[in-house]
Amino acid sequence: MPLRPTTRFAYRWVFPVLGLGLAAALPADGQSPARQLVIDAAEALGGVERLESLETLRLRGYGHEAYQDGGSRITTETTAPEKMTNLTAYERDIDLVNDRTRVSARMYRAFVFAAEAMMRGQPRNQWLDGDIAFDGARRLSGEAARQRRMEFLANPVVAVLTALDPESTIEDRRSEGTALLADVTTPDRASFTLAVDEESHLPRWIRWVGPHENLGELTYHAEFSAYEPVDGVLLPMSFNTVSDFRDTVMLRLHVDRWFVDGNIESPAAPAAVASAPEPAPSYTASAEPVVPGVWLITGTGANSILLEFADHLTLFEVPGNRGWTQAIIDEARRVVPDKPLTEAIISHHHFDHTGGLRTAVAEGLTIVTQSGNVDWFDEIIRRPVTHYPDRLSQNPLPLRTRPVDDHLRLFDDQLTVDIYRMVSNGHMADGLMAHLPDHGLLIQGDLFDLNWQIYFWGDTYADNVAYRNIEVERDVPVHGEVLPISEVRRRIVEQTSNARTLCNQVAAAGLSMPGCPLAGDDWND
Ligand SMILES: [Zn+2]
Repeated sequence: MPLRPTTRFAYRWVFPVLGLGLAAALPADGQSPARQLVIDAAEALGGVERLESLETLRLRGYGHEAYQDGGSRITTETTAPEKMTNLTAYERDIDLVNDRTRVSARMYRAFVFAAEAMMRGQPRNQWLDGDIAFDGARRLSGEAARQRRMEFLANPVVAVLTALDPESTIEDRRSEGTALLADVTTPDRASFTLAVDEESHLPRWIRWVGPHENLGELTYHAEFSAYEPVDGVLLPMSFNTVSDFRDTVMLRLHVDRWFVDGNIESPAAPAAVASAPEPAPSYTASAEPVVPGVWLITGTGANSILLEFADHLTLFEVPGNRGWTQAIIDEARRVVPDKPLTEAIISHHHFDHTGGLRTAVAEGLTIVTQSGNVDWFDEIIRRPVTHYPDRLSQNPLPLRTRPVDDHLRLFDDQLTVDIYRMVSNGHMADGLMAHLPDHGLLIQGDLFDLNWQIYFWGDTYADNVAYRNIEVERDVPVHGEVLPISEVRRRIVEQTSNARTLCNQVAAAGLSMPGCPLAGDDWND
C-alpha cells in the first residue's frame, strides 16, 4: 500500500482527477463528503501539499503497554490494576516514501516477573516493509504484519495520507458527539474508522478491529492529543490506545521529540526475508505417561495434563492459543480414543493459560475453575466476534462451569484428583492446583517453572503443600517438566537467591525495581 503514490507510482495526488472523473456522483466541490472530511483533516495538519512533501518522521519518547493485553491481573476483578511493560528509548521511524516503519525500544516489566532479562530490560526491534513484518532476519506471520500495519496507521499523518491514497475508499461520513467519522479501507484491505474534531478537523482517534486468541477479536481505539507544530506539520505529543476489553490501556506514549525529514533507519526487508514464505502456525502435541492414567502433553506450547477417569477424560489447562489447545485435545483423544473428553480444569485466568478457552468451550468441555474466574470467562465467551470468526463464534455454545471455591474432589474407581484453591500467592488470587493423593503428584501452573531464572514468590509452593497437608513426590507443571519435589525445592532456593542478587545489584546502583527487596527478606528467612 503506497503512502505516497507520487513517489511509488509516479502520479500526483488524485483529488483534481477525482473531481473530473467522478463528478456525476459527487457534490459540487468534486469530493465525496467522506473524502472531504479527510482532506479537511490534512489541511488541519498542515495542508495537503505539506503532508505530501513529507518523506520521513521519527518519534522519540517513552511509555508503557499492557502485559498480555490486560489478561494478567492478579484477579479478574475490574478493580484489579493492570500489569504493564515499560517502554523506554522508544523510537518509531516512519518512511513515507517506501512505506516502511521500524520500532525500537527497551522494555522491562513494571511488575515482578520470573524472566531476569525482562526485569533488567531488553531491546525490542520491529520492522515492517510494506506487508512484510520481520524481526532482524526472521519473517513473521501475515497476522503479525497486519497488526504492525494497524499500529503504523495509528498515527494521524500516516492515517490521513493512507486514507487519501487514490486506491483507498472512504465512506459513511457521520457524527459522533463532537467528532466527525468516516470509514477507511486501504488497498491492502486494512480498515479503520477515522475521527476528526468537528471544530479543528484535527484527527482525534482511529479505531480498528483485530483478531485475538483469547477474546476472538479486539477493538483498538488509538487517541491522539497535545498537537504541536513541528516544521509546518501539527503532530501529537501524546498517544493513548485503549481496547474494548475492560477499557484496557494497550499503549501509552509520551513524545519527547519529533524529527521531520531527518535521516532514519528504515531498511528494506532483506532479500532472504522477503522471499521467505509467511510462517504458518503448526502445532505438534505428544503425550508421555507420568503414571497410569496420567499423561503430560507437551510440544509447541505450554503443557497440558491428561487425566483418565473410568468413563471420561479431563484436561488440566487449555494454554497458549486456540490452535495449540486443539492439538492438545486431538492428542488426548488419540491417546484414549474410547472415552469422551468432557472437562478442562484451568489453573488460573491469565491469558497464556486460557488461550484455548474458546476452543475448549467450542469442543463442549465443562470448565473447572476457581469461582472468582467464572464471570470473566463468561464475558470472554459471550463477546461478539464478527470480523474474525472462529469455531465458537460460528457455533456459539454457552460457558458451562464447575466452580471450585476451596476444594473439589474428582474421583471414581480409576482416579482420585483433589482440586484446591491456591493460597499465599502474589501472582494469582483465584488459582487452582490439583493433587493426586494416590500418586503423590502435584499439578500446577505458575507456582514454579524450572526455566524461571528469578523467583519473587517466596515460600508459596511450600506454603500451599503445607496448608493442604498433602504428600508430594513429584511436580507436574504446565511450564517445564516433571521433577522430584526435592529438585523443585532446590531450584526455588536457587531462583530466589538469583532474585536477591539482582535486587542487591539494583540497590547498589541506587536504582529500584518491582519486587525488591524480596518480601520474605523482611523477616530474614
Ligand atoms: Zn500466570
